[in-house]
Amino acid sequence: MLRGFSVELRRLLILLSVCALVGLWFDHVVWALLAGSGLYVAWMVWQIRRLNKWLLHMNDEPPPESSGIWGDLFDNIYHLQRRQMQEKNSLQAVINRVQETSSALRDGVIVLDWRGCLDWWNPSAQRLLGFHSSDQGKSVINFIRHPRFVNYFEEGNYGEPLEIPSPRFTAKQLQFQITRFGRNERLIVVRDVTQLHKLEQMRQDFVANVSHELRTPLTVISGYLETLSDSGADLSPPWKRALNQMQQQSKRMSLLINDLITLSRLETTESGYNHKPVKLEPLLLSIKSEAQALSGEKNQEITLECESKELELLGSEKELHSAFSNLVTNAVKYTPADGKIAMRLWQAHGQVFFSVRDNGPGFDSKHIPHLTQRFYRVEQSRNSGTGGTGLGLAIVKHVLLRHDGELQISSEMGVGSIFTCVFTQTPSDK
Ligand code: ADP
Repeated sequence: MLRGFSVELRRLLILLSVCALVGLWFDHVVWALLAGSGLYVAWMVWQIRRLNKWLLHMNDEPPPESSGIWGDLFDNIYHLQRRQMQEKNSLQAVINRVQETSSALRDGVIVLDWRGCLDWWNPSAQRLLGFHSSDQGKSVINFIRHPRFVNYFEEGNYGEPLEIPSPRFTAKQLQFQITRFGRNERLIVVRDVTQLHKLEQMRQDFVANVSHELRTPLTVISGYLETLSDSGADLSPPWKRALNQMQQQSKRMSLLINDLITLSRLETTESGYNHKPVKLEPLLLSIKSEAQALSGEKNQEITLECESKELELLGSEKELHSAFSNLVTNAVKYTPADGKIAMRLWQAHGQVFFSVRDNGPGFDSKHIPHLTQRFYRVEQSRNSGTGGTGLGLAIVKHVLLRHDGELQISSEMGVGSIFTCVFTQTPSDK
């Protein structure tokens, strides 16, 4: 650039010197210098015009030939342009590669802009949801109108994926997982989970059918065992012990079957259709007297504190009874004789809370994430004496899910445990 500049300066000086000499010869130095300057300005303007023309029609054409400062300018702009072109090409190659990879995916991938409108999608998304190229820029809600998707999309709580029937093929089941990125843009991954859904359905049906089928033979066996024990038959002590054990085990099996049936009903029936306002205080009073009966000779102190007598929740009374009663029954089962069990109902920040606190043995916090899994027990030995089925907390979790609620658990070894149901429904307190 500096070399070009000194060449240009020399060129100007030579021009002005020649003009001055010619002016001296004709005795018109000023006019000659003016004419020389005019000539130089005209040449400059011509170079600017060439530069402008080249910039306007800049394809791959090399810059116009020039010397001095203009030659340098043309060359530098040309190199800058080449570098940008190379960077653009390598970026385009990366974009093409990403698009090729996501095109090969079996899962649908959809990119939405900040307004929730379609920006880009891969062929699988096109196949699963029937998009056309003309749909770019349209809102995704126009294509997936299922109320649960609209809710999921608008609530913005994308921690868990959503499963709904396909809007295009009703027999298919799709799973949607949304992730935010960039400036409030969203990426949706759509997966065809029809096969998994069918398997899950089969599992649920199998458990429900087996439980129902086992109920009748078990009732017959229990009936005969009871008749035998009531008949006062003269049995030898080992046979009496055996009969006693058989009765205990058949009772336990019947509890297990009932819990399995309850759980599969919770999993398979649509929630919400039978929801009515449920007054909580009378429900808890009846659970309290059931717990007192269960506690029997253990002589535990069972208390109930209700913040309001009129507090209501929208839900199924039967399901809520089952959830609350499972928590209270656990407290009675695991708390030793003369222990304390406190039931409490209150509302705060637009939520309803129900807690069961006991001063039983408690458990290590490492068990908390697993407690609501079926058949999970803190200690096998602890459970064998209590006759639990291992399904109680799984039932509680399902009931709460169906009532916009969640279960919070805290416990300390040797101090006791607190199980709290938190309902995010707006409480009704007439
Ligand atoms: P179970 O029928 O075995 O009671 P649950 O699903 O109701 O099954 O409970 C799972 C496990 O959680 C129990 O086996 C027990 O180890 C533990 N648990 C539940 N409630 C309490 C409690 N109040 N105190 C101590 N441990 C508890």
